[in-house]
Amino acid sequence: MLSASDEFLIEAAREELSRCWPKPTIDRLCAALDAVFSVAEASWASRRTNLTYMLSSPAPACKAGCGWCCHQQVGVSVPEAIRVAVHIQSLPVDQRAPMAARLAQVAGRTQGMTTDDRAHARVACPFLGTEGRCMIYAVRPLRCRGLHSIDVDFCIACFDDIEAMRAKLAAGQLKPVFLDTPQAIFDSALAGVLKALSKAAPKAVVSLELAVAVNALLEQPRLAERWLAGARPDRTLHLQAEIPV
Ligand code: SF4
Repeated sequence: MLSASDEFLIEAAREELSRCWPKPTIDRLCAALDAVFSVAEASWASRRTNLTYMLSSPAPACKAGCGWCCHQQVGVSVPEAIRVAVHIQSLPVDQRAPMAARLAQVAGRTQGMTTDDRAHARVACPFLGTEGRCMIYAVRPLRCRGLHSIDVDFCIACFDDIEAMRAKLAAGQLKPVFLDTPQAIFDSALAGVLKALSKAAPKAVVSLELAVAVNALLEQPRLAERWLAGARPDRTLHLQAEIPV
């Protein structure tokens, strides 16, 4: 069940994004999404530093340099994919060129893979730096922001053998180790973004795969504008989930 603050976040995100229409521009969209990121991050910061929460919840094990969870498909909304593409385009060429090359390589290798295929292939996110840091941290997707593990060994074991971990979870031998609170906060922000889109550009309400979608945006300069004007993103860019999303 959603809490009052989750409901507030959905509405705040919806309102922020809705302001981009009826005349959406890439700049306006990026500013609106940055505002959504800020509100959601502030909400998580205030929750995790609340004494009652601190006393009742285990501490996250996540820290800079740990990227075990960054070897799977990442579902993103159209605004999030555009935000990442704009960020890459704004980088100095000595950073942009290698990042775009790596992105194209990962997108070429993973396009069409299902979530299971991708987990088995153990392909790192193209934005995972050599020291295990997210190279697009300021604009990383909401799904990435919401994932907080309390047990790094669980994450390593999932990376090593996802099937075995799923079997153990299904048999009740293991419990999920991801915190509910940040997931609810950032999922609420995403729900607000999608709510705004469903009114302004309903065909753009799809779950895209981060790497292939951002690569397409870099390769086709007018694509972002077309999506904001209401075009449906090509199916080949969608998240290929086993379970409908
Ligand atoms: S975008 Fe950043 S946080 Fe998300 S999977 Fe990629 S490297 Fe990890």
